[in-house]
Amino acid sequence: MNCPYCQHPDSKVVDSRDVSEGTRRRRECLACGSRFTTYERIQPAGLFVIKKDQRREEFNKEKLLTGIRKACEKRPLPTGTIDRTADEIESEIYAAGKAEVPSSVIGDMVMERLKKLDYIAYIRFASVYRQFTDITALKEEIDSLVNGEEKAPDRTSQLPLIPAEDLEEVGGKRRRSHR
Ligand SMILES: [Zn+2]
Repeated sequence: MNCPYCQHPDSKVVDSRDVSEGTRRRRECLACGSRFTTYERIQPAGLFVIKKDQRREEFNKEKLLTGIRKACEKRPLPTGTIDRTADEIESEIYAAGKAEVPSSVIGDMVMERLKKLDYIAYIRFASVYRQFTDITALKEEIDSLVNGEEKAPDRTSQLPLIPAEDLEEVGGKRRRSHR
């Protein structure tokens, strides 16, 4: 740590003792000779996320929640689904017991869950996360979803693509509301 008096980065330790919260060190600045005290606390090992550009960042559940929330915005999901999804992903990551986890692994975990919950949320998340560079890649993803849906025996469990409140009966014909 920098000297609090002159901001010089180097100091020597003149005294060190273990205290209940960690280690207390008496330091002397190598530039101005001022003495100051530092405390080093022992913290539980954090969980780090390795980003695409290889930077490490401490795992932040709020960030995970924000990403999922954005994808699920205005989707007709049952209350608590988003929080539960984030909780599940968080505990799965911690259960793996690794100190570092690639952001792509977390992204895949989110996609896997959103795919089962809601296609629109899934496509939204995928388009940001996978950064579909062209419309062809996005179309391929959607095509594979549609084809998968036709084969899936439990497609009725998927939520409707358009929320019920956005639909109105007009002359016996359903159409998208413009309000
Ligand atoms: Zn100093």
